[in-house]
Amino acid sequence: MDHQQADCACDEIPQSLISTSEALTLLTDSARVVNSTQMVVLDDALDRVLATEVRATINVPGFDNSAMDGYAIHLQEEQLGVVGGLAFEITDRIPAGSVGSVLGPGCAARIFTGAPIPQGANTVIMQEECELIENDSKIEIYRPIAYFENIRPMGNDIKSGEVVLQAGLKLQPQAIALAASLGVNTLEVFNKIKVGVFFTGDELVEPGETLEAGQIFNSNRYALVAMLNKLDCDVFNLGNVKDTFDATCHALKELSTECDLVITTGGVSVGEEDHVKPAVEQLGELNLWRIKMKPGKPLAFGNVGESAFIGLPGNPVSSMVTFLLFARPFIKKMQGVSNYLNTTMKVEANFDWHRSKPRREFVRVKLDNSTIPPKATQYPKQGSGVLSSMVWADGLAEIPEKTTFKKGEIINFYPLKEMMQ
Ligand code: AMP
Ligand code: MG
Repeated sequence: MDHQQADCACDEIPQSLISTSEALTLLTDSARVVNSTQMVVLDDALDRVLATEVRATINVPGFDNSAMDGYAIHLQEEQLGVVGGLAFEITDRIPAGSVGSVLGPGCAARIFTGAPIPQGANTVIMQEECELIENDSKIEIYRPIAYFENIRPMGNDIKSGEVVLQAGLKLQPQAIALAASLGVNTLEVFNKIKVGVFFTGDELVEPGETLEAGQIFNSNRYALVAMLNKLDCDVFNLGNVKDTFDATCHALKELSTECDLVITTGGVSVGEEDHVKPAVEQLGELNLWRIKMKPGKPLAFGNVGESAFIGLPGNPVSSMVTFLLFARPFIKKMQGVSNYLNTTMKVEANFDWHRSKPRREFVRVKLDNSTIPPKATQYPKQGSGVLSSMVWADGLAEIPEKTTFKKGEIINFYPLKEMMQ
């Protein structure tokens, strides 16, 4: 059966058939940003999301200072640009952290990187360009000198009053360092979101247990928990839940009272053993989308009480890919991150795409980075259960629906390295 027929057959089922971009917009439009915040010290701020902008209350640098180890000089106008043999008397020594005295005309102060430029000085010459003469009491310089050499002016980096960090920024080491450089020691961040997870399927057993006939190990559990940990969520994990309506309802109730979001994998098809859909419908609201994509397709979205709900497909590659493409931006928006969408780059397909397909495909590819743009090669097995493809791949190449192309086509690429952060 080809995809076209499969799609037609499923039209009898009351599910909406939507594009990947529609699904993403519907999801992210309904994401509610967490409404509580806390103050954290800088050492605890990594990966948290800034809730209030940070404004500088000082200039950085706070004073004109030397960019070099050398000599600060009071250069006189007639000495400007003179070639060869200008001598200055050394009258002061200014290490970083101390303040020199006023420098008279024709005088020099030994100065070190970061030390304040003394009053009267108007240029700094690096020590390698100065020759000590007359028992080290003077320096002589043989090249023409200009004003303001090697001086880092006050406020050059940041001016007092400027907004330096915007709300919605996921805090990385460089942003934390910038806050520290302004004397800020605590930051207001959004509270972490609580995400409850459970897994459906009576065929599932835990790694470490013995497989009986017909059973498989639960891999989605470990993928999902790890991806949520990477996203800095507080995870409530109920593990495997029996494939019954009652057990599914019980798990949903328990998690929804605690959590901002509940995510499940499996059980969102329309098979008799799929209890997630009726259970969520009983306790809240549910939209079951058939997304025109591969791998993936069924994705359930709704709410149970105050908690949002996302039901990912059961197949391991489908559940990871739909998590990364849909749940991840949704979660980042809930966390208050302003750049919550996945970023893509352009790559060159190192393969032909012969058959036009009704669904958008997210193909696991490896990149050859020795060319510009990088060339993407497909993993030979692209099945939605082939987890080894995810380990082999550098990312997902996006092949639009209803398209054919020859090797060399420029296509979108979602880097796994970035999406797994
Ligand atoms: P379902 O969506 O429940 O019909 O499951 C689709 C496929 O994914 C079936 O082959 C399941 O055995 C498999 N599957 C479901 N849940 C998991 C899981 N947690 N880990 C590994 N495979 C799973
Ligand atoms: Mg199942």
